[in-house]
Parts: sequence; C-alpha cells; structure tokens
Amino acid sequence: MSEQTKQTEGPRVGVLALQGDVREHAAVLTALGATVVPVRRAAELAQIQALVIPGGESTTMDKLLRAFGLRDAVIAAIDGGLPVLGSCAGMVLLARNIEGGIEGQQTLGGIPMTVRRNAFGRQVDSSEVALEWKPDGSQMHATFIRAPWVEAYDADVEVLATLAGAGDDEAHAVAVRYGKRIATAFHPEISGDHRVHQLLLDLI
Ligand code: GLN
Repeated sequence: MSEQTKQTEGPRVGVLALQGDVREHAAVLTALGATVVPVRRAAELAQIQALVIPGGESTTMDKLLRAFGLRDAVIAAIDGGLPVLGSCAGMVLLARNIEGGIEGQQTLGGIPMTVRRNAFGRQVDSSEVALEWKPDGSQMHATFIRAPWVEAYDADVEVLATLAGAGDDEAHAVAVRYGKRIATAFHPEISGDHRVHQLLLDLI
C-alpha cells in the first residue's frame, strides 16, 4: 500500500465560519491531521468532534450567530460536551460575562469567567510576547491583536498562561481551560506553534 492510501481520515473539527480568521485555523488543523468542516449551519455541528471559534470581531460574530439561527445550536453542542477552542473574539464568545461589550452584545457562555474586551489599550493593540505555558513551564510565542483578557474566573477554571505589565500592574489570565473548553486571548493560529490546537484535538 502506498503512503497515501494508508492515511486515515483524522478527527472532524469544525471552524465557525461566519467571520474572522477561519482559514488560518483550518490550515493549522489540517497540518495536525484533522478534517476541517466550516460551520455555518446547525446541521454541520452534528458532523464534528470539536469546534474552533476564531478571532475576528465578537460583536459581528454574535450578530451573525443569531442571524444564521446558530446561536442556540452552538450553545447546546458546547453544553453537550463538544470540545471547543475560542481564540480572541472566540474567547469573548465563550465567556459567561463581558466587560466592555457593546450595547446588547451576547456571548455563548461555556466558561465561568468574565472577559474584558479590547483590554490592552492602544499602545499594545497588537503585540507578540513569549508567555510561560503553565501546563509544562515551556515558552509559548503569542500574538495579541486587540485582545481581551480574563478579568475574573471561577475557582475550577484552569489558568494556562498569564500576561503581566500590559495596561496595568496585574498579571491577567490570557489562556484558560474549563473541562473540554479552551480559550486564548492570543491567536495560536498565526504563531506557528500548534500546541493549543493539539490540546483541543487531545480532548476529543
Ligand atoms: N476586539 C475583538 C472583539 O472584541 C477581538 C479581536 C480579535 O479577535 N483579534 O471581538
């Protein structure tokens, strides 16, 4: 048998494809051996084993989730145990509460935390930093683009990384995990480091 015919189909991973950096996430997932399913309809949620909510604009994604009739179905899928990764705007969408949202902005919830939107202030609108990845103490290069941070979280939320010295003197959680739900304030899809996506695949 040739190498090609021996390859098996990897896990089917959805990327919410309403807005934002869908392609970059799809590229990383494909590189890790997953089969990517762009999700725009509720029926597509039944075909996937994990879901990525990309960065982009959380206010727009919130409106489109409702316009496409997807919001309740995504909430139900997450409640039902579908592993999920939200980055940047996706982190905002996974938060139970938002600070700095626009009038009427809703989230999907899923992680008992409060996230501050556009938290870092103008001077650090976009930055690249080396974070300590707490699960193994290694370094993780992280790109922040008009990113949120986690303002508050329940005791059973695991903090995977924090960032200090951005906007105020405190260290803020910028990557968290709650069961099968992962959220990062940074964009793991553009750093070339695939460990966050691998963590999602490991939760399947
Ligand atoms: N500031 C954006 C929001 O609130 C997030 C930015 C991003 O995803 N890069 O949705």
